[in-house]
Amino acid sequence: MTQKSSTTDSPDSQSSPDPQSPAAAATFASLDPRTGDVIAEYPIADESAVAEAVDRARIAARWWDAQGFRGRREWLLEFKKAVARGATSLASVVSRETGKPYGDAFLEVMLAVEHLDWAAKNAKQVLKARRVPSGVASINQAASLEYRPLGVVGVIGPWNYPVYTPMGSISYALAAGNAVVFKPSELTPGVGKWLEETWNSIAPSQPVFQVVTGLGETGSALARTGVDKIAFTGSGPTARKVMAVCAESLTPLVAECGGKDAMIVAADADLDKAADFAAFGAFGNAGQTCAGVERIYVVESVHQEFLDRLTTLVSRAKPGGTDDSTYGPMTLPRQIDIVRSHIDDALAGGATAVMGGPDSVGDRIIEPVILTNVPETSRAVCEETFGPTVVVNKVRDLDEAVDRANGTNYGLGASIFTRDKAKGRELAARLCTGMVSVNSVLGFAGIPSLPFGGIGESGFGRIHGADGLREFSRPKSVTVERFRSPLKLMSLERPQRDLDLSARMLKLMHGR
Ligand code: NAD
Repeated sequence: MTQKSSTTDSPDSQSSPDPQSPAAAATFASLDPRTGDVIAEYPIADESAVAEAVDRARIAARWWDAQGFRGRREWLLEFKKAVARGATSLASVVSRETGKPYGDAFLEVMLAVEHLDWAAKNAKQVLKARRVPSGVASINQAASLEYRPLGVVGVIGPWNYPVYTPMGSISYALAAGNAVVFKPSELTPGVGKWLEETWNSIAPSQPVFQVVTGLGETGSALARTGVDKIAFTGSGPTARKVMAVCAESLTPLVAECGGKDAMIVAADADLDKAADFAAFGAFGNAGQTCAGVERIYVVESVHQEFLDRLTTLVSRAKPGGTDDSTYGPMTLPRQIDIVRSHIDDALAGGATAVMGGPDSVGDRIIEPVILTNVPETSRAVCEETFGPTVVVNKVRDLDEAVDRANGTNYGLGASIFTRDKAKGRELAARLCTGMVSVNSVLGFAGIPSLPFGGIGESGFGRIHGADGLREFSRPKSVTVERFRSPLKLMSLERPQRDLDLSARMLKLMHGR
């Protein structure tokens, strides 16, 4: 039923096909961000197609649950091997659909494989049934706790890291014993289909992992199907819409949203290292990284020196559409206007462009922009820019740096550069974010045992690590009476003597 073809290379055509057009009803195109050319057409899964996928997942979930931790571990390690063996092909699909250089795409696949491996190998240890202390008052009870699968998890993914990001939910949800229905971003449907085909190559008769392609409506339909949890990664405004739909059926939600991550550079920092990481964190993947560096607060005594080193480094960057480019085009064409507006707003507010400026914003590619003395109230400081621009502001001292870093509604990640590691830890504790790296950027992203997620506008809930496994599980508490209680308190015919004895025990145990 391929009716539509969006062959236009208008930037907006990628994200907003006309829903009124009958031709837009059945399929959508994934486009090459380098050229606007159509890569392939994919079906738009409507409500009934999504519901059918969830029904199939419900049946598969029972089989998956019955595999137990050991069985699932084996299946998931087979899946991992298949992804690892196909890494070059998957990285090519990522590179094609996002426009990022092949090396960046490959790095993303490597990280996703690490997480899949960790989730497969650690699910049992984290989630298995265990005895827990029952306490003096319930000494006659044997208490145990286990983490049961939720059932079917719906995963809604973004396009900027179309493997690493959704696999952070998919791997952990599968390892926790759930079936998954994944709705990839409309910009990267081929990546989703590649993952589904790879699962099917190892378990063709068990639709434990399925992909439904489509636009926002397909994601909305998934949230409406009554899945047992939605794992959403994307922007805050979309998260609000998803949450409103989930609210109708009390479907729980984990929301991984945007960021406005700050880097703090102390006077004693290794400035070359800080500049190198800043360049990578701010400009890598064309700045389209949720936990990328968007704001840098540098203590005044080293501000100019840091700025000089950063500028020298970034001046060597070569954005473009080839695999040896430093970074590629903007994947989502309408983001270009947002980046431009943030630069304009900062300059109108009195900021200085140390490198680039409004002219750096091209039709598809944005050359690096470094801004300084940017008013803290400007959009470039307060809102997610998601482009290859960075704000480098001067601060009096580290206290002011922490205050400013904490000054937005976001709270995803942050980084600190100082040679004093104890100071680094102390500052890390004061930052209102889910994650902090000292003397690196994004250090936490590649460590599968560390939970990933933010606070405030950056969302809630966690993927990765033991918390990520529990996020997709339901704690189940069970007590088994070991012997009859010496005190008969849970009875309509409670003896006064037992109540008096309990009152004396309460004083003895808690009243002193
Ligand atoms: P987006 O919010 O536009 O879309 C995300 C997904 O939601 C897509 O699959 C989209 O089709 C779907 N969607 C859109 N409308 C929907 C609706 N009404 N109901 C259900 N689903 C709907 O985000 P994006 O542009 O794909 O991704 C960029 C954003 O994601 C940035 O803000 C970035 O910071 C954030 N992000 C966060 C993380 C993280 O882990 N915190 C990781 C990557 C990206």
